[in-house]
Amino acid sequence: MKKEEIFDNYNQYILPTYKKQRIIFTKGKGIKLWDIDGKEYLDFFPGWGVNNLGHCHPKVMCAVRDQVSKLIFVPNNYFTIQQAKLAKEINFWAFDSKVFFCNSGAEAIEAAIKFARAYGKKERNEIITFLNSFHGRTCGALSATSQLKYKEPFEPLLDGFKTAPFNDLEGVEKLITPKTVAIILELVQGEGGINIANKDFVIGLRKICDQKDILLVFDEVQTGMGRTGKLFAYEHFNVQPDLMTLAKSVAGGLPMGVLIAKRKFADTFKPGMHASTFGGGAVICKAALAVFYAIQKEKLLTNACKMEEFLKEGLLKLKEKYPHIVNVRGMGLMYGVELDIEGSPIVDKAQSLGLLINCTQDKVLRLMPPLNVTKKQIDKALNILDKCFQGA
Ligand SMILES: *Cc1c(COP(=O)(O)O)cnc(C)c1O
Repeated sequence: MKKEEIFDNYNQYILPTYKKQRIIFTKGKGIKLWDIDGKEYLDFFPGWGVNNLGHCHPKVMCAVRDQVSKLIFVPNNYFTIQQAKLAKEINFWAFDSKVFFCNSGAEAIEAAIKFARAYGKKERNEIITFLNSFHGRTCGALSATSQLKYKEPFEPLLDGFKTAPFNDLEGVEKLITPKTVAIILELVQGEGGINIANKDFVIGLRKICDQKDILLVFDEVQTGMGRTGKLFAYEHFNVQPDLMTLAKSVAGGLPMGVLIAKRKFADTFKPGMHASTFGGGAVICKAALAVFYAIQKEKLLTNACKMEEFLKEGLLKLKEKYPHIVNVRGMGLMYGVELDIEGSPIVDKAQSLGLLINCTQDKVLRLMPPLNVTKKQIDKALNILDKCFQGA
């Protein structure tokens, strides 16, 4: 197919839900992507945070190839080896828990909302979420998302959600009523502009939840699987959630969502209360096992922490040089560069120079290179960014 025909097919046959950059990708390997013209890109925003291991990681490819030749799918009224292994693996690396498998971040949040409602036994159904949060696009997940631009056209959504200010414990306390059953938090808000929770705030939330029998839910869909330099972001805070959601990078580029529930709450869901046809299919589970294995075997958390130093240092240097950069913040390999101008021209210029980044909240450039990024690749990206700011 020729380029114009591809664009034309999209125009004619695909609902226009996405703002798109006009690039057609044909190949990916590690941090690199190639478009249909053979132009090479350095991907510092791989798959919206999906490809934490880079594109087409060999261990993931190998696992998928092996599994598709044996068994692709059987439904959840049977057992598979791969699902059994993965659930145990997650339990080992996270906290003592039981999991529910689904196919996306929004579905994992849906599962968390239903879990919380079930836990509230119809007596408690209020859930507190935070300003600038993002939890996905299904109606339930949108109800939990506080950013109006995503939800306004679809209102009325689910009842019972309240929005608290981020990092403001008193603000949360004011919203708690005898009907509050859960609090849902991103420890680092991704779509919200790379806003990092304060440690005291998170510890405070844990205390409130313990005192009032409220479920503390961490949405680690974007921060999980090593993104912040620890396998899960909550490890930075020394605070465990009662429920945790994972998705994006958990299966190395294949679709998977997971709701993880602390063991003591696990029998809240009874047989028949929730389900997902595709959730936890054998191929996806095998891919996710390869991701856990690769993170350990290739010491990717150590690398992420080392590379953070270079990335941070380089971004701070750019901040000194260019007054349009007003703030640099992040955790691990999840960084935001806040500007006092629109970020999209910078994103476009970077793209033309072969660097893929993202902009969120109009003014925050977001960089999330794969965990196996090298110093050389970071230097190259910083060089391109430097060029983008010249004359901005
Ligand atoms: C991306 C994201 C979601 C939604 O995930 P989907 O797979 O797109 O449904 C939910 N929560 C957070 C924190 C996210 O970054």
